[in-house]
Amino acid sequence: MTEKYTMKFEEIKFDQDDKLLFLIDDLQLKADAIRYSILPKLEIIGNEIISRIIDIYNVNYYENCALAKSPNFRKSNRINDLKVDYKHSSVSLTGLRKWNKWIGLTKEGNKQANIVPFWLRIELNTKGLVHMFYYNRPKNFSKDTHTKIFNFLIENEKIIQTILYSVNIYPNFEWKKNSLPIVDFRNKLNWKLENELYDLFFMPATPIQYPIETNQLEYVIKKCILLFTIFQSFIDISLGEKPQLEKYIESYHEYILKQKDIDKTQNISSEINKINLSQDEIERLTINRIKVMPGIRWQVFKRDNWRCVACGQSADDNVILHIDHIIPRSKGGKDEINNYQTLCETCNIGKSNKDDTNLRNKSAYS
Ligand SMILES: [Zn+2]
Repeated sequence: MTEKYTMKFEEIKFDQDDKLLFLIDDLQLKADAIRYSILPKLEIIGNEIISRIIDIYNVNYYENCALAKSPNFRKSNRINDLKVDYKHSSVSLTGLRKWNKWIGLTKEGNKQANIVPFWLRIELNTKGLVHMFYYNRPKNFSKDTHTKIFNFLIENEKIIQTILYSVNIYPNFEWKKNSLPIVDFRNKLNWKLENELYDLFFMPATPIQYPIETNQLEYVIKKCILLFTIFQSFIDISLGEKPQLEKYIESYHEYILKQKDIDKTQNISSEINKINLSQDEIERLTINRIKVMPGIRWQVFKRDNWRCVACGQSADDNVILHIDHIIPRSKGGKDEINNYQTLCETCNIGKSNKDDTNLRNKSAYS
């Protein structure tokens, strides 16, 4: 067996199968596909964002924050999870749930808060992949907490508006009928504060539409990197500290200035990654992904219990599953379910020399 292979950020894409998944009726299949195929990819993107954020902003991210998955498939809700008609799946940067950490936040009745009310999120849905920012659960938090957050936004209105404009999202202020006419950001926020309407949704950007190619993921990542300046300022407030928005903006500018060099390095490293695969292997993997008809991929994964039929690993073991032609198309293998098997990346690459091995029939997992 070769060295364990885990999917790299540079290899992630989402195609029509991924889009149609959110539309199919089989709820169990949908839940399993999200769990074993969609979420692992989103997690890799989320971790890529975090690792770049740590580099750029020099923040101790993991001390305060974590990457939250949705749906999270907690074991206790397993049965309920499988009944839900999921329309999207996401990963979010959010504060850790901890007592005594968020001393800057209070709940109603002056109680200590144990969660933060905001999320920086990337979501995959029927329309595509989209980045968004949430300030949610307003009812749980005290007037004092909302005032701090809103005042931060008001005091930095020009920078905040510039950031929101740059990341292609905008606040959705809910207005009562016959309320004030459209006025500026500051007045809207003040109006909401005065009326104690603390919900503050930032409308998501236009999604990147399917098929989503690897190079398009950079767009979402760069937007999240800039949005992080607001996210981390909210974290500062939650920790009871002064928000350091200007410092984060400065770090962001430095990152932008270095961008040309960074791009060169990334191209080189992704070229090196590709050299590890032979041209034949790359073609084989590409053909497999394109030729599988929509829906069949999920049926094959389901039949094979969402595990590699050769080694038995699943997404829970941190591997990405692929569809393999048992008899290659070049040898007359057909595009039908009996000619497909589920393989992890390592076994898929390892199989190329042996060609038409039906690993499924040899395995305990068949
Ligand atoms: Zn395997």
